[in-house]
Amino acid sequence: MNYPICQTCGVQYDQAHFDPDHCRICEDERQYVGWSGQRWTTLEEMAAGGYRADIREEGELTGIGTAPAFAIGQRALLVPGEGGNVLWDCVSYVDEEAVAAVQAAGGIAAIAVSHPHFYSSAVSWSEAFGGAPIYLHEADRKWVCRDGNITFWAGDSHEILPGRTLVNCGVHFAGGTVLHWAAGADGRGALCTGDILTVVMDRRYVSFMYSYPNHVPESPAVIERALALLEPFAFDTIYGGWWGRVVATDGKGAVARSAARYLGRLGFSTPSRPRPPTC
Ligand SMILES: [Zn+2]
Repeated sequence: MNYPICQTCGVQYDQAHFDPDHCRICEDERQYVGWSGQRWTTLEEMAAGGYRADIREEGELTGIGTAPAFAIGQRALLVPGEGGNVLWDCVSYVDEEAVAAVQAAGGIAAIAVSHPHFYSSAVSWSEAFGGAPIYLHEADRKWVCRDGNITFWAGDSHEILPGRTLVNCGVHFAGGTVLHWAAGADGRGALCTGDILTVVMDRRYVSFMYSYPNHVPESPAVIERALALLEPFAFDTIYGGWWGRVVATDGKGAVARSAARYLGRLGFSTPSRPRPPTC
């Protein structure tokens, strides 16, 4: 209950990683230190402060967020299938009521997190569900702030439970991961992306950023590797990292036209080749 949680990024620390003056997630150039300086809270303080889990439907899935919104404000998802639910991405806040509600929705057999900004209280969630394994890509190992039952996986893709496959798109973070849900969208497939591919306000599109709060674009080579890795996967729906950020249909087309638009603005065509000099 008393593990420190950064108020800006929402990531929970254990004593081995904690330094009261610094959050290394926030000091990285992809994030920012809160304007009032480094501030911490705990699950106990959050409960006393009136936070609660916000658990409701998101399309075909069960979403898990926090009310009022906390830190980066993402919502997690329960992705069902043979062998139990995957908790895709994670949130900072968890209490007994949240655990009971998730238990009623089938519980959690495994946890997978897209990138370090959403590591949040994954270890607390794991411990609340019998030590469910947490799958993180090994390229982001150095960003782990609380040790727990973490399985670091390597390579381009990894099926963690039947029909739930992690793909290391590598956008935003080297270990940046999305989850392909084969049975999603009535069998046409769904992709849960966090903000590795972020569903933007025009929900026919996604975007690809190295830093979202600081508006730093992702490099064309990284985006093209991600497109190539996603090529074999069918998906119609894309679930982004926040409530309502969903591409309802033609997800595959949305990724293609979003990448073409983005790379075009950067002066690349798809597949990328620097444009020849004009003189
Ligand atoms: Zn932080």
